[in-house]
Amino acid sequence: MPQSKKFILQENDIPTQWYNVVADMPVKPAPMLNPQTGKPMVAEDLYPLFAEELARQEMNSTDAWIEIPEEVREMYKIWRPTPLVRARGLEKALGTPAHIYFKNESVSPVGSHKLNSAIAQAYYCKKQGVTNITTETGAGQWGAALSLAAKHFGLELAVYMVKVSYHQKPYRRSIMQTYGAQVIASPSMSTKAGRKILTERPNYQGSLGTAISEAVELAMSTPNCKYTLGSVLNHVSLHQTVIGLEAEKQMEMAGEYPDTVIACFGGGSNFSGIAFPFLRHKFDGSRQTTFIAAEPESCPKLTRGAFRYDFGDEAGYTPLIPMLTLGHDFSPSNIHAGGLRYHGAGSIVSKLKADGYIDAVDIPQLETFKAASLFAATEGIIPAPESSHAIAATIRRALEAKEAGREEVILFNLSGHGLIDMASYDRYFAGDLANYSVTDDEIKANTSNLQEI
Ligand SMILES: *Cc1c(COP(=O)(O)O)cnc(C)c1O
Repeated sequence: MPQSKKFILQENDIPTQWYNVVADMPVKPAPMLNPQTGKPMVAEDLYPLFAEELARQEMNSTDAWIEIPEEVREMYKIWRPTPLVRARGLEKALGTPAHIYFKNESVSPVGSHKLNSAIAQAYYCKKQGVTNITTETGAGQWGAALSLAAKHFGLELAVYMVKVSYHQKPYRRSIMQTYGAQVIASPSMSTKAGRKILTERPNYQGSLGTAISEAVELAMSTPNCKYTLGSVLNHVSLHQTVIGLEAEKQMEMAGEYPDTVIACFGGGSNFSGIAFPFLRHKFDGSRQTTFIAAEPESCPKLTRGAFRYDFGDEAGYTPLIPMLTLGHDFSPSNIHAGGLRYHGAGSIVSKLKADGYIDAVDIPQLETFKAASLFAATEGIIPAPESSHAIAATIRRALEAKEAGREEVILFNLSGHGLIDMASYDRYFAGDLANYSVTDDEIKANTSNLQEI
């Protein structure tokens, strides 16, 4: 394994402000709509659901920089700044002239970038006097991060975990329980939304959309309780910009600037986190960086979804969000093991994609695990199956650079490690995984009745 080179910042270099990309967007995203009235939402409309400061951040389209509270920065110091690594091992294995860098967000205590926003959300809830919070989780990354944050700030947390993951990924459930959270397999009988789905489809293995409905319902029916979300929303993307802001300084230490920035894409938070700070130099014309979001072939909302108003959840409790979507009824095939199963993309990223500021690729499952295995063998870190989509996209790009004899500088985000996802690797090695592509008819059936933007 050749020596890869690390670029290390000091505690003082942890950003003091998050970057709010909406303030700098030439054309802003359309507003969220109240599904009852059809009217644009304002921050106050979200107060019943979210901590007020988070609701204001969600709607803030004017302040490019938002102060990170000192209590949050203190917590960030547990693992931030995270390293930036020049992946010489991977470069050498590919024989590419490209320079490949990755930002290593897997070093957080829970093993992913999710803690960047979990801490901020728990903090604002606590500050407002909230005592209980709810959320949903898929593979368990967000639930694990929020459990740690809730414990630190003394909040009671209930997590609705997608049933298939609850049974197939028991260790993340154990992690959440270790931090003191209550974990419920979703769909459950504890909410109206869950009971309705279970009555219609008793064997339903759950989806993020269903789990969100349950978590929202519990928050709305419990006093002094707020709901939190780990991706998709603007305020979550905002908190994740610490990734790109640090990476910008570290690329400077390396004496380079990325030609291409790549991240995997579920709801968009880690992609936004690494991309938005670099994007501001594309808005002002000083850089021509290419941004690539890498999503699974089996859940291709950015590459093949419809740009429509859609709900963030299955039951239709959330505001209508202007998003690239496969439809809120969409649930990817159970064959798919790599996470990133959410049906839609956040409104900012959807707008940036529609306006041509960012690109997306969708990647077949087997290619992601092959990429992950090469990365593990050359760089030593076993990536999360989600992150492997970014690695696969990076490898594609580096091989294109080799073909063209181009010395491209590529930066990707390693959103997490895969040490608690070895069951998925086992399925890959056993030959149990296959590629899976959604049909056009399926996408059309799920999106044709959604409102145009
Ligand atoms: C949750 C998660 C993702 C996908 O979510 P985004 O909001 O799109 O970033 C990607 N990688 C890891 C490790 C995750 O835990």
